[in-house]
Amino acid sequence: MTAAASQADRRQVVVVGAGFGGLQAVRALSDAPVDVLVIDRVNHHLFQPLLYQVATGLLAPGDIAPTLRSVLAKQANARVLLGDVTHIDPIDRRVEVVTVDGQKQDVSYDDLVVAAGAEPSYFGHDDWGDVAPAMKTLQNAVTIRDKVLTAFETAAATTDPDTRRAWLTFVVVGAGPTGVELAGQVAALVHRTVDREFDEFTADDVRIVLVDAGPHVLGPFKPSLRRSARRTLDRLGVEMMVHRAAKDITADGVLLAPIDDQSGQQRIAAKSVLWTAGVAPSPLAKDLETTTGATLDHAGKVVVRDDCSIAGHDELFVIGDLANVHDLPGLAEPAMQEGKFVGKVIADRVSGQVPKRQFKYRDLGMMATIAPREAVTQIGPIAFGGLLGKAAWAVVHVGFLVGWGNRLAVLIDWAQLALRGARRQRAIISQTPQH
Ligand SMILES: Cc1cc2nc3c(=O)[nH]c(=O)nc-3n(C[C@H](O)[C@H](O)[C@H](O)COP(=O)(O)OP(=O)(O)OC[C@H]3O[C@@H](n4cnc5c(N)ncnc54)[C@H](O)[C@@H]3O)c2cc1C
Repeated sequence: MTAAASQADRRQVVVVGAGFGGLQAVRALSDAPVDVLVIDRVNHHLFQPLLYQVATGLLAPGDIAPTLRSVLAKQANARVLLGDVTHIDPIDRRVEVVTVDGQKQDVSYDDLVVAAGAEPSYFGHDDWGDVAPAMKTLQNAVTIRDKVLTAFETAAATTDPDTRRAWLTFVVVGAGPTGVELAGQVAALVHRTVDREFDEFTADDVRIVLVDAGPHVLGPFKPSLRRSARRTLDRLGVEMMVHRAAKDITADGVLLAPIDDQSGQQRIAAKSVLWTAGVAPSPLAKDLETTTGATLDHAGKVVVRDDCSIAGHDELFVIGDLANVHDLPGLAEPAMQEGKFVGKVIADRVSGQVPKRQFKYRDLGMMATIAPREAVTQIGPIAFGGLLGKAAWAVVHVGFLVGWGNRLAVLIDWAQLALRGARRQRAIISQTPQH
């Protein structure tokens, strides 16, 4: 990185988190006469919408996670610090960071953008995380990939039919877009790759169950798209169980209970339970509540003013999944637009211009992919699925990836899948043999 010589009189802008929101804020400040320090606990910018493709051996981790230093190499006024922000002191205007070497550091700021996003939530059952990995970080996706691939290998090595059945049963808890995408992609992996390569069992022996406590699969989408998703998942052999909540998860399976009838509990023996049921805002939300008196909404997000700042702190902005901005959903597009807006507000102030006072969201809709040739797209009143939905999905996702090298790598892997059914990223790297 070519860090510009910091000038003592320049404003110091600190951005916590270089995900969708934080990165846009940094970029919006590229021409401003400020010094920007980006602090993140990981060294990369993660494109979370394609995590499930890493988790199922289609894409390599690096394809969706360029390093922050490479992304910001050409931005002369930006620097990167690898560390975990543990506390924000809005009175002294400093953040506490535990840096990668384990040391505590205080970093001062003039303006602060907090874009630390969300973390997996097990609704009070954190121990489930040990056996049912979530899909939020790159590490999570690699853990899931290794777990799934190891399950097939273990099933092949096992002679006891019940044990083999448990290894070939995959339960995805949470049937929102992430759960649907993951279940659909595991099914595609089974039908197009595993079935061809394993002699010990067939695709018919594999059971994939998608569970949700709500009444629908793909809840946030229109009914017509939900129905279309159900049909596709049905065709892929994914069993859907709605109105059922996970009551207990162990290394050997999951106990499910109907939402309104605890007596009908049911245990599914499964060695692979994957968690896509919930996220909660970063703990920095609670920290900000304590230190600034900010209000948290029912989900624990920081309620911000119209310009994304916290009341009484014009210099402290909260954006993305961590913030409640006009009740917008926790999606990449709101986070990106908020980041861009906040960066511009800071740049305008520095250059003596009057910044806009109110963030306005431009709704670009939402999408989810269900199967290799099927995705659903919803933009305002317009809703479509099928191959057209998949084409729109592919264009948008490649377009939003950061870096031409990453776009090319993803396109090559997708082309290999389409032409040869190949999933090349299936080396198991972190799973030890099962005893
Ligand atoms: C599997 C999955 C699929 C998704 N698919 C879609 C989709 O298809 N379309 C869509 O619009 N949205 C999708 N989303 C949601 C979208 O990714 C989020 O809404 C978006 O990432 C929010 O942006 P953000 O900047 O608030 O947080 P993030 O992008 O999550 O970035 C937060 C950053 O902060 C860092 N960080 C966190 N805490 C700290 C700390 N204490 N100190 C230092 N650094 C910290 C993290 O490492 C991370 O880099 C998906 C999410 C997931 C998990």
